[in-house]
Amino acid sequence: MKKEELARYRSVLENQPARLESTNREHEELLDESRTTGDFIGPDRAADLETLEVDASVAESEHRLAEKIRHALDRIESGEYGICEACGAEIPAARLDAKPSVSLCILCQEAHEAA
Ligand SMILES: [Zn+2]
Repeated sequence: MKKEELARYRSVLENQPARLESTNREHEELLDESRTTGDFIGPDRAADLETLEVDASVAESEHRLAEKIRHALDRIESGEYGICEACGAEIPAARLDAKPSVSLCILCQEAHEAA
């Protein structure tokens, strides 16, 4: 992969965690708001618990994405970025553009998900 391309993917990847952090902040603000309005001690506790669970899974997937981004940045450093980790094939640019944090080609990704 060309140096300029690597630099472009790196800046895309580096800008992603910041976006996730701001999403987290918005979440916290929402939680604070519902605490002060007393939503959490209302009779509708089941719904509240569901909301909390959704929040937890959002946080979980954000954490996983942050890990993937760090991993992708490591691979840019080591010159392995854009190469499938499982079969060594080049990952098409269109796939990297859509999801810069991927480390598997489509075939390996599908095999991985089917397993
Ligand atoms: Zn592959």
